Amino acid sequence: MSDETPTSSQNKNKPKDDNETSSATETEEDTTMEAIRKFFAQKLNLVTALDEDDGGNKKIIDNLTFEGLCDHWKSKGFKNIITMVGAGISTSAGIPDFRSPGSGLYDNLQKYNLPHPSAIFEMDYFESNPQPFFALAKELYPGSFNPTPSHYFVRLLHDKGLLLRHYTQNIDTLERIAGIPADKLVEAHGTFFTNHCLGCRKLYSMEWMKEQIFSDSVPSCEDCNSVVKPDIVFFGENLPETFYSLPARDFNKCDLLIIMGTSLEVQPFASLIDRAGPKCVRLLINRTKVGNDFGGIGSWFMLGPGLMFDNPKNTRDIAYIGDCDDGCLALAEALGWKDDLAGLIKSEHERLDKENAKTRDERKKQATNKESDDESSTKEKDKA
Ligand SMILES: [Zn+2]
Repeated sequence: MSDETPTSSQNKNKPKDDNETSSATETEEDTTMEAIRKFFAQKLNLVTALDEDDGGNKKIIDNLTFEGLCDHWKSKGFKNIITMVGAGISTSAGIPDFRSPGSGLYDNLQKYNLPHPSAIFEMDYFESNPQPFFALAKELYPGSFNPTPSHYFVRLLHDKGLLLRHYTQNIDTLERIAGIPADKLVEAHGTFFTNHCLGCRKLYSMEWMKEQIFSDSVPSCEDCNSVVKPDIVFFGENLPETFYSLPARDFNKCDLLIIMGTSLEVQPFASLIDRAGPKCVRLLINRTKVGNDFGGIGSWFMLGPGLMFDNPKNTRDIAYIGDCDDGCLALAEALGWKDDLAGLIKSEHERLDKENAKTRDERKKQATNKESDDESSTKEKDKA
């Protein structure tokens, strides 16, 4: 993690200010100290005392509003767009948000009799009692849901050759279902798409796992009989290797970062916003304004200045407050892509509906066969 501090990439070429007496090259420690100093300066409302000289104070976009962004996009364009998303882009698909009270996933976990809700995603608990996780996985299993307009907007960015990378916190695989290629994805919290044996690390496919989960058995390895676990990141597990290897390259190139449907509360994911260089425009599409008031004490040393919407020194941050789908549709409309997006959604949903109907029929058939098998075996027993 040491090369992943959010300050390292963007402050390298920063001219020295009057307060810095050292002539030595900036070390990791310097940049960390700088981030801490800025953090406290901001907390104490010393915003005007900040010295954000990297890239100057010139606005990247003259009019820092959603309309201003759309005008800039149409006239000057963006070439390397990164999208960075959380549960908010999947809620309209019907997937419950982990964290929203009432509708949230944790509230539905009572029936599993867990010692505490998050135990369902803890390795220790899983290894001793994997059954509740798989019962929940059956309820939430990818394939029962269709991607949302937000997913298809990202797919459209890819189709138009503009998507550099899509960083997602979601484990629902809706990005893959929406047709965003695997090499464009960083699934920061893992995925149901691949599965590994906890004993011998043998790889199992999504199809194999699906069959196990829907037949209500705890998936166990064909070679060593250990439990097989989907590659979603549990508490205490490392994030995927690409989360550490790709940002340095990606965020250096990125000229537009679109942040959607995330509270920016979960680290280290949230700190990605500070990896974007000073010339990168950052658009937040979310129901509430987030990322502009970092106060999480537990991870405060990780944080850069965050998003600057309400700061007089803002040069490049824009917020669209509303649902992700509405924001994406508004962008598509402003860019003249409304028909492209509508066409893509229609054809893809038709394709998926057909596939899902086929899967449902197969499951029904399997269930009927199982029932008749059970019946005949009961009869056999009765005879005996
Ligand atoms: Zn095994």
